[in-house]
Amino acid sequence: MLELIASIYLVLALIVGMISRNRGKTFLFGFFYSLILSPIIGLVIVLVSKKNKYKMINRKIKKGKVTRCPVCGTVRSSRTNICQNCHNISK
Ligand SMILES: [Zn+2]
Repeated sequence: MLELIASIYLVLALIVGMISRNRGKTFLFGFFYSLILSPIIGLVIVLVSKKNKYKMINRKIKKGKVTRCPVCGTVRSSRTNICQNCHNISK
């Protein structure tokens, strides 16, 4: 019974770690808060903490979901070829 509770606790901590990673923090940030304080408190800390938008955008660029305009540096969807900011046409 104790093993079941411990494994649920660990899975919840892993989920909070992944939520933390999706919000631009490191996985370990959410995981360790969840492990030490409990997954519910860890989740609250992750959700209350500020998103790291710079890391989130860089992750999207790596995945190919968005690209950065070579002229003005504005981030745009990979599906469009025209920059909404400077109207530069590029691949
Ligand atoms: Zn541009």
